[in-house]
Amino acid sequence: MSQINSYIVLYDKLNVRYIYNTSGRAIVWRNVFLFFVLNIFYLYSIYHSLVNKCWITWIFAFWYGMAGGLGVTAGAHRLWSHRSYKARLPFRIVLMIFHTIAGQNDLHEWCRDHRVHHKYAETDADPHNSRRGFFFAHVGWLLTRKHPDVIAKGKQLDCSDILNDPVVKFQKKY
Ligand SMILES: [Zn+2]
Repeated sequence: MSQINSYIVLYDKLNVRYIYNTSGRAIVWRNVFLFFVLNIFYLYSIYHSLVNKCWITWIFAFWYGMAGGLGVTAGAHRLWSHRSYKARLPFRIVLMIFHTIAGQNDLHEWCRDHRVHHKYAETDADPHNSRRGFFFAHVGWLLTRKHPDVIAKGKQLDCSDILNDPVVKFQKKY
């Protein structure tokens, strides 16, 4: 282990280097606050809908969650990031709306992060590098600043196919 400014450099059993920022500036407090508030609302909504027997809310929440999930999995992941299939304009618009309600950044940012994740998996350039621990890989990466390698490698990736889609452009603009 060694210290470079505010970064700690570690080597795992396979001698793969990984780094994490130990400075307070690494934490994005705005995101910490938003996640905290979001989870408080979530817990309160469960309590409120159970106590007041708002079953229609449960049905709405189920389908809302399904739509958001589809926007991320079928849209951002399979269609735009991996180009696993082709979709016509109306379906892409539906997927973009579904992706928007999931609240996971815009499509361009999502796909760039995902492509850089696959290309540099489990290195510092991986936005949710699992070598930095379970919490970081699942939630922590959304609460901290990106590692400089993520930004540098992300800029080198060709994401022109994503940005050339007018549906993605529209979502990014609005
Ligand atoms: Zn993938």
